[in-house]
Amino acid sequence: MVKICCIGAGYVGGPTMAVIALNCPSIEVAVVDISVSRISAWNGDQLPIYEPGLDEVVKQCRGKNLFFSTDVEKHVSEADIIFVSVNTPTKTQGLGAGKAADLTYWESAARMIADVSKSNKIVVEKSTVPVKTAEAIERILRHNSKGIKYQILSNPEFLAEGTAIQDLFNPDRVLIGGRETPEGLKAIQALKDVYAHWVPEDRIITTNLWSAELSKLAANAFLAQRISSVNAMSALCEATGADVSQVSHAVGKDSRIGPKFLNASVGFGGSCFQKDILNLVYVCECNGLLEVATYWKQVIKVNDYQKNRFVNRIVSSMFNTVSGKKIAILGFAFKKDTGDTRETPAIDVCKGLLSDKARLSIYDPQVTEDQIQRDLTMNKFDWDHPIHLQPASPTSVKQVTVVWDAYAATKDAHALCVLTEWDEFKTLDYRRIFDNMQKPAFVFDGRNIMNVEMLREIGFIVYSIGKPLDP
Ligand code: NAD
Repeated sequence: MVKICCIGAGYVGGPTMAVIALNCPSIEVAVVDISVSRISAWNGDQLPIYEPGLDEVVKQCRGKNLFFSTDVEKHVSEADIIFVSVNTPTKTQGLGAGKAADLTYWESAARMIADVSKSNKIVVEKSTVPVKTAEAIERILRHNSKGIKYQILSNPEFLAEGTAIQDLFNPDRVLIGGRETPEGLKAIQALKDVYAHWVPEDRIITTNLWSAELSKLAANAFLAQRISSVNAMSALCEATGADVSQVSHAVGKDSRIGPKFLNASVGFGGSCFQKDILNLVYVCECNGLLEVATYWKQVIKVNDYQKNRFVNRIVSSMFNTVSGKKIAILGFAFKKDTGDTRETPAIDVCKGLLSDKARLSIYDPQVTEDQIQRDLTMNKFDWDHPIHLQPASPTSVKQVTVVWDAYAATKDAHALCVLTEWDEFKTLDYRRIFDNMQKPAFVFDGRNIMNVEMLREIGFIVYSIGKPLDP
């Protein structure tokens, strides 16, 4: 029986391994982590992450051929194939601070693999890492090998949170990069054999190591760039009377462009887009490609601009001050169908409003009060000026309440602000909400999901991104 071990039981490690276990009953899969609480949640009723369809998959194979454990060394030493899916955040200090990926967790995983291995291993980069990381990993393993042979593969993950299970069952592609030596090709084939249990052969792409590593950074940069492009257009739409939805529709009809990822919004978030672009910028700078670095940096600058623009619009619409006013925040996660708040635009929008002394009442169906309080009180790292930390406002916590219902959030509020596109926000009783709000009652739709005509008929003053302003 082939044995797989995955180091890192997070948003990627947990779901990817659960789907491998379900599709490959003949393979034993162990997911290991140093976090005791995360592993006990994976073994309990309340999984540590919210992802539609994940519960069912885990329940079907947990205890049969899928195991979650903190006994990292045991499972690593027994495995034939080791996926490494640890976090690779942006470095916050030292060389490359604010841009480079922090590979501390990766390095310690590699050293541990070298320490405990007693047989040859295939080591798979599942985390998103800078191009050429495999070279560093190979060096660490080779210098500590004790005669054991390692093959490094790059198999970046393209799942999107919120649709992870769907994406894993039906991926657009599975990318496997490896060395073009006989041993490297054998390792690529071994990993292909795993995916071949459910992924059609023509969707499994094999490349050299560096192409696979770079493709992941490139894919995220292209996706984020599309969002920044449409968001930049949304500002121009507001200035000229064009409607960004009409422009996106017309542009997306061009088959060379296509309609996906063209929705204007308050900005992109999540743990990956900003981090991976910064990582790309750093790799470009290290290779002396300064113009290329500047090009990609602009994608993040436009994203920051869009979040600031949204806050400014709220404040200027509400007679140039939100001081003491109650603002209902509907949605805090970085997108719908996830409880993940990493780099969510809601953090910047809320902090912007808090700095103008607004009172916030926040509701998100999957985000806890602890998460929100932590996110709003954490100092924000300023990637553009890496030596500065923007301090959180000491009064923030008192200005924020977290509630478990959109109606409670909006009661007596002067404005409501949609920051996550949760489906339930489309079908609330807006007549009831209007009746319970201060007048004039404002709606700021940061995701363009609201029925503007209906809201205006009720009496709301509505601002949507990139749309003509309220008459
Ligand atoms: P995560 O923070 O949710 O999970 C990482 C886990 O690794 C944590 O639970 C941590 O405790 C564990 N870990 C760290 N060092 C360890 C060690 N030495 N031994 C055992 N466990 C260790 O991160 P994530 O969101 O799952 O992302 C993992 C990687 O995948 C990142 O590189 C990320 O960029 C990439 N990625 C993420 C997504 C996404 O949507 N979240 C999508 C594609 C790729």
